[in-house]
Amino acid sequence: MIDKNKCIACGSCVSVCPVNAIEFEADGKPQIIKEKCIKCGSCVAICPTQAITINDDKESKKLT
Ligand code: SF4
Ligand code: SF4
Repeated sequence: MIDKNKCIACGSCVSVCPVNAIEFEADGKPQIIKEKCIKCGSCVAICPTQAITINDDKESKKLT
């Protein structure tokens, strides 16, 4: 998920996602489309404010 309070809407996560699983919403902040996300971790790594966490299932341990 993306913590919208931490996100500065830099757009890096949208650019780096290999499967276009991140889209900006009407409020100007991005959101991960879980159905598309392959949990590669690229967005987590690039986010300058650590706003992204991928911990919605047991596979999340692979990213940490
Ligand atoms: S973990 Fe990878 S596939 Fe999932 S939203 Fe982030 S960059 Fe995209
Ligand atoms: S990389 Fe982080 S700060 Fe930048 S738009 Fe994505 S979630 Fe927001």
